[in-house]
Amino acid sequence: MTTRFTGSFTQQEPIPEAGVEAALRVMRHGRLHRYDTAGDEVSETAALEEEFAALTGAPYALAVASGGYALACALRAVGVAPGDPVLTNAFTLAPVPGAIASVGARPVYVGVTEGLVIDLEDLAAKAGQARVLMLSHMRGHICDMDRLMALCDAQGITVIEDCAHTMGAAWDGTLSGRHGAIGCYSTQTYKHANSGEGGFLVSDDATLMARAILLSGSYMLYDRHRAAPPPEAFEDLRYDTPNVSGRMDNLRAAILRPQLGTLPERVQRWNALYAAVEEGLRGTPGLRLVPRDPRESFVGSSFQARLPGWPPDRIADLVHRCAARGVVLKWFGAPEPAGYTSRYDSWRYAPAPAMPATDRILATLIDMRLPLTFSADDCRLIAAIIRDEAVALCA
Ligand SMILES: *Cc1c(COP(=O)(O)O)cnc(C)c1O
Repeated sequence: MTTRFTGSFTQQEPIPEAGVEAALRVMRHGRLHRYDTAGDEVSETAALEEEFAALTGAPYALAVASGGYALACALRAVGVAPGDPVLTNAFTLAPVPGAIASVGARPVYVGVTEGLVIDLEDLAAKAGQARVLMLSHMRGHICDMDRLMALCDAQGITVIEDCAHTMGAAWDGTLSGRHGAIGCYSTQTYKHANSGEGGFLVSDDATLMARAILLSGSYMLYDRHRAAPPPEAFEDLRYDTPNVSGRMDNLRAAILRPQLGTLPERVQRWNALYAAVEEGLRGTPGLRLVPRDPRESFVGSSFQARLPGWPPDRIADLVHRCAARGVVLKWFGAPEPAGYTSRYDSWRYAPAPAMPATDRILATLIDMRLPLTFSADDCRLIAAIIRDEAVALCA
């Protein structure tokens, strides 16, 4: 009899009781809008920003409506205008090129390496083409940030970090999101904190953050923020910055606040699941694990592996056989993208020249989510199923 996995790859943990209670309080008093405060009340959203700033070590933090909104807001804040080229990853999630397109700018795609990080050689070759890089730490893989920042600083390129998969991760002791001018995060259900939809920006730069706060829709109420630059920073900007409404609300903030405190503990659990899958797959014929740099402290909320040399039919077979046993694999080389798009040639509104080196890597790349509702035993079973099927197909 063949074993089958019966868990759900999309089932997240429930919202902590403290978050449920806080959300009920917000609904009972009815002040859901972040600027609707009674007397000297501190809104849930303002408190959340203060706590997120403390968590990341950034002086300034802003909570917004989604991760994609955070990215577009960051682009506007650094002054990207219609028609401007913006460097970004050829392998990322659709909201990244979408954010660039939303401000009328044009993505210039940079390739991916076998380690699944941005190709710094390709970045160096294209550095002269744009003054902004939107760097996506796709699937939680972090490139050599010292090299990347040295390269971008030397070329005068402003870096915006997309940390949708790296909230809680670090490079060589510096938290992800704290290398570039602005760090952006998502609190959408499948990321590292869950408010359904939501996002953050963090920055050290008072002018950039003042712009972001005004852009997010603060009206003239920015003095109600607690992780914002001083009022002087807004003086020269407040009549000239459009309101591109995308605020966080108190209900979602209430749900998120207790989750920030448990992030380190959850990161440990994710990494234990990741390690269980990695151990279970080690030595599987035809399957190559993705090496991680010792300077990278990642969050193992998803798992990737490569099947170099496998013809497309055999990979499609593996995906089917695993699915039949309850293991849901995403294949980035599939002829038609399933579920979501992650490669440059799926975004035809922003056409780009072919990138054969990137195509070669994505053609044999598989991926799966590791929600915290899985146990280490679940992960061992999942790995055993993938291994079984790979062995059968490679025989
Ligand atoms: C989810 C995600 C985003 C955007 O987040 P939303 O909150 O869904 O808008 C950006 N980048 C990557 C890599 C993501 O996975």
